[in-house]
Amino acid sequence: MLRIKLKRTLFLFSSLLFPVTMWYFSPYLIIQGASEHIISESFIVFSCMLIFSIFFGRAWCGYLCPAGGLQECARQINESSIKTGWRKYIKFILWFIMLSTVLILLVKGNKRIRVDFFYMTDHGVSVTEVFNYVIYYGVILILTLPALFSGRRGACYYICWMAPFMILGSKIGQKLHLPQLHMEYDTNQCISCKQCNKACPMGLDVVSMVKHRDSGQIMDCIQCGECVEACPKKVIKYKMKWEN
Ligand code: SF4
Ligand code: SF4
Repeated sequence: MLRIKLKRTLFLFSSLLFPVTMWYFSPYLIIQGASEHIISESFIVFSCMLIFSIFFGRAWCGYLCPAGGLQECARQINESSIKTGWRKYIKFILWFIMLSTVLILLVKGNKRIRVDFFYMTDHGVSVTEVFNYVIYYGVILILTLPALFSGRRGACYYICWMAPFMILGSKIGQKLHLPQLHMEYDTNQCISCKQCNKACPMGLDVVSMVKHRDSGQIMDCIQCGECVEACPKKVIKYKMKWEN
């Protein structure tokens, strides 16, 4: 329970800080910065996310992301699990367009590249002017509407431009057999009560992951630990070392 309280507290703080930090997660800033040969704060934050996820999977999404906190609130309105289908690939398309644009802009013109961690902020603060508030509320809408209309963590599934960095990092860590935060199951203890499915903020079929080792959903697991807490038989455990 301590873990869940920690998670909610972190989400509260990250959501409250979002007017300060918004540009640090901005796909616009990374592109605009690259067009001026600047490595912006969002470039650095996205790179850190990739490195973080090699060892901690998608724990950023599970504990710290402001968009995650907003969507957990939206879950109080729409509890349904998302129907993924082809739409879950939209985020990969957005990510690929963003990344390729940034790389092309950075190498184009052969100019000197410089780093500016506070690019386009006011002393490090993102939202300081009235116009920025319009953008801020626009971003809030973009991040919460998919969850409100489609179900649990809709924005994470469909449009999050940061998720592919962490999915890629997780895959790299897994392939290299590096110590990585992940879930493991004691399948024989499972009584199919489905409490884990009910608790999962991503709406995953955790029972199928436990019983049938369904690995197709692993990239959507955000290592939040809700299923660990919900399971009455302690079937699911956090692990840092891959045993399979
Ligand atoms: S499977 Fe468990 S750890 Fe993964 S997202 Fe669902 S509740 Fe969180
Ligand atoms: S909560 Fe635990 S016992 Fe119940 S279905 Fe999930 S893994 Fe099995």
